[in-house]
Amino acid sequence: IAMYRAKALGKGRVDIFEPEMHARVEKTTRIEHDLNTVLTRNELEIYYQPIVNLQSMTIEGFEALLRWKHPELGNIPPDDFIGIAEGSGIIHHIGQWVLYNACEQIVKWNRLYGGESEFFISVNLSARQVSHSNIIPLIRDMLEGAAFNPAKLHLEVTETLLITDQETAKRNMAELKQLGVQLSADDFGKGYSSLTYLQNYSFNSMKIDKEFVQDMETGGKGKRLVSSLVRLARDFDLSVIAEGVENEQQLRHLQTFSCHYGQGFYLCPPLPSEDIDVILIKGGHLDFPKLQLCNPFL
Ligand code: C2E
Ligand code: MG
Ligand code: MG
Ligand code: MG
Repeated sequence: IAMYRAKALGKGRVDIFEPEMHARVEKTTRIEHDLNTVLTRNELEIYYQPIVNLQSMTIEGFEALLRWKHPELGNIPPDDFIGIAEGSGIIHHIGQWVLYNACEQIVKWNRLYGGESEFFISVNLSARQVSHSNIIPLIRDMLEGAAFNPAKLHLEVTETLLITDQETAKRNMAELKQLGVQLSADDFGKGYSSLTYLQNYSFNSMKIDKEFVQDMETGGKGKRLVSSLVRLARDFDLSVIAEGVENEQQLRHLQTFSCHYGQGFYLCPPLPSEDIDVILIKGGHLDFPKLQLCNPFL
């Protein structure tokens, strides 16, 4: 299509667009190819971003975020390979890997630093995973094998992703709920049918998309939009998490709106597990003032 457009724009344009397009196609093909061996070559890593209770300013859980350290292409962000992995079906293997490793990690942190209230782990599921027949036994086996408290596993699902195979997705979501895990509506508000979405699936929590959180500063309707979303979540008995908290002002606004949880660079960026270990060993204090662990004895 890009080529076609370039041509339509005139002869000279083709030379400008073609190399760029060529490079992009080549990179996509390379990623597609290398994804097949990404697990055996051990190139994936999970980063963890703390999810902070905005009233007590304590860490209550973590979101698992995938990182690919490619030996030649460098760090490839998930947005550049998750879509491709979905297309090839390798997403099922990657998704299973993330689930097992993230849960193993949280069990470890809970044993070492969890205290009475255990941390939860939030894992992103892609649409292909949610509508796959294998997802229920996969998660059931994982929960049983790890003796994992199901309520401490939060599964994040993005709305736009559920549109394709609605019936299966709906059934699987209901069955996941039966297993006792928590369902989280990721990137809420970005899609075009958010309200139906709340009605059709029984979510436990809503994550307000970072775009809205960032728009609070620009004045205008940004702040009112976020406070409405928080109220909407509360009316639906959902807990609400604001994504992309990047500065103190945003944090203050969210606290004023009684938003339950926040996540963002201002609180803590996604970090490799060793760096989270360092934070937890120190008692959960981040660079952010007054942030502490749930466990008062640490
Ligand atoms: P997401 O689920 O919405 O995850 C939040 C994204 O916001 C992450 O991007 C995170 O690094 C970023 N973020 C956190 N705090 C801030 C902030 O203060 N400001 C800004 N601007 N961004 C912030 P990341 O890690 O690049 O991941 C992108 C997306 O890739 C995720 O969006 C998620 O949908 C997907 N993804 C990541 N890991 C997995 C995975 O294991 N499986 C699947 N299926 N998708 C994943
Ligand atoms: Mg997410
Ligand atoms: Mg997501
Ligand atoms: Mg999100």
